[in-house]
Amino acid sequence: MSRRDVVRSLPPYKQGAAEGPGAVKLSSNENPYPPLPSVVTEIERQLGSYNRYPSMGAVEVRTAIAERFGVQPDQVAVGAGSVEVATQLVHATSGLGDEVIFPWRSFEAYPIITVVGGATPVRVPLRPDLHHDLDAMAAAITDRTRLILLCTPNNPTGTTLSTDEVEAFLTHVPDDVIVAVDEAYVHFNRDPRAVSGIEMVRRHPNVINLQTFSKAYGLAGLRIGFSISSVEIAEDLRRVATPFAVSDVAQRAAVASLAHEDELDERVERIVAERGRVTRELRAQGWAVGDSQANFVWLPTGDDTERIDGVLRSQGVFARCWQPEGIRLTIGTPEEDDRCLSAFALAREGGAESPLARVGAH
Ligand SMILES: *Cc1c(COP(=O)(O)O)cnc(C)c1O
Repeated sequence: MSRRDVVRSLPPYKQGAAEGPGAVKLSSNENPYPPLPSVVTEIERQLGSYNRYPSMGAVEVRTAIAERFGVQPDQVAVGAGSVEVATQLVHATSGLGDEVIFPWRSFEAYPIITVVGGATPVRVPLRPDLHHDLDAMAAAITDRTRLILLCTPNNPTGTTLSTDEVEAFLTHVPDDVIVAVDEAYVHFNRDPRAVSGIEMVRRHPNVINLQTFSKAYGLAGLRIGFSISSVEIAEDLRRVATPFAVSDVAQRAAVASLAHEDELDERVERIVAERGRVTRELRAQGWAVGDSQANFVWLPTGDDTERIDGVLRSQGVFARCWQPEGIRLTIGTPEEDDRCLSAFALAREGGAESPLARVGAH
């Protein structure tokens, strides 16, 4: 297959939709709250300087991230969203003929960045309880494997990996294979057994932690994410990064956000509380809902997915749907979630066609 055919074989990345006046957009795992006022002020201060390129070294924001997490600035790499950092990682590790292992279903960008990088994606199906199948992922390692992506909490199922599971998994991974722990939703995770990506980086030189300012920090539109790893890996990422991809305004907003994390934590707590309420109320309506540790919940609606999606859309509620697998529903403001719950109640009256097994509840 020529490279061009490979590219044409890719499904386009689907952005979460929302159409019409008053639409409730719960399809992209965005933070429903705008950036903090102090962050907006910082952004406004930058408006007159767009004739200049941004700082490519991103020293200020890398230093702020390093201080926040107790690592060295040289261990931090940044990108235009953590998707771009993950792309750098593919480019730095994997070329033609190399294999990149990741769970499936998981983040939609993984197969795209792998194939565009020229490498071969190895999708390892989730277990029936929607957790990563780490045994199968370990068994999938070959001498062509260069990179393994772990997603915890997993998008779109909300399931998490524990420290013990990841430690056991890493004993099967050769030292020259890099393991990325993608923690885009780490701030929403309340599982006491959950693995900490940064802790794994401290213990294992082949582990890299990916984080983003897009979700908990509410800066999705500004595009900035980062990784923490060994200095060696971080240097490789900086070598392959698209020059000037991260704007100064994004860098400044990230620094300002880190300086006001306590205020952001309040919002995160509100979203976590809403996640509990939405989960309880959907279950009370009779839906199967997985236990999620992210800012979204997963409903394994199976063959009934498209019908339910149709009812939700008719009510101006937009979730992310994969027929015939299920629905990922982002947690919004209480008002948005109320509208969403009413729409689900309506879909319930329409009758669910498939038997819904309760999953992820352990
Ligand atoms: C949203 C998301 C990201 C980060 O997205 P950016 O906006 O590019 O930082 C990374 N990984 C997963 C699993 C996500 O869901």
